Amino acid sequence: MPACSVIVIGAGAAGLAAARDLGRAGCEVVVIEARNRIGGRVFTLAEAVPSVPVELGAEFVHGKSPALLDIATAANLKLREVTERPEGVEAGTAVIVGTDRDKIVRTASELLTSPVAYARMANAVSPYGDGRASERIADALRERFEARSTRQRRYA
Ligand SMILES: Cc1cc2nc3c(=O)[nH]c(=O)nc-3n(C[C@H](O)[C@H](O)[C@H](O)COP(=O)(O)OP(=O)(O)OC[C@H]3O[C@@H](n4cnc5c(N)ncnc54)[C@H](O)[C@@H]3O)c2cc1C
Repeated sequence: MPACSVIVIGAGAAGLAAARDLGRAGCEVVVIEARNRIGGRVFTLAEAVPSVPVELGAEFVHGKSPALLDIATAANLKLREVTERPEGVEAGTAVIVGTDRDKIVRTASELLTSPVAYARMANAVSPYGDGRASERIADALRERFEARSTRQRRYA
């Protein structure tokens, strides 16, 4: 006799984790998934490019969630320290420090105390623009609205 009987709707990460934990607790679990595959928004396309899996959904483990790290370890998955912004790292405006506390403190301290390290990063050219986008947007809006009010005055 199971401890309980549960229907889980949706076989995404949340539904699968719930089904797993309920199953471990001795419950009888049925998972109902609307699609013809499990995974929800985690979806790896295996056949699109030969020998290169293409991720159409989640692929990054943000931070150090023990629950996710446990699953990755149990599945023998190799996690790598990467960034979604490789252009910044290439340009020298960003640096990958990972999630190790000591490394974060060491890297931040170096930037705060070493004028050379600070200048190297501060003077690197950002591939994401010069930080003045909002100023330009404000100028463009001002120009547009001023032009409109001039037109309105002209035809009033
Ligand atoms: C392009 C993209 C990139 C992402 N990248 C990252 C990332 O790098 N790192 C990260 O942590 N997160 C990322 N995310 C977010 C992450 O994918 C989601 O937070 C996570 O997968 C959500 O899981 P879930 O189980 O809550 O929901 P879902 O994955 O949405 O699963 C819900 C499931 O329920 C099913 N369902 C819904 N309604 C019904 C119904 N009535 N009956 C039966 N089945 C139903 C759906 O078909 C689906 O399979 C990304 C998301 C996207 C879209």
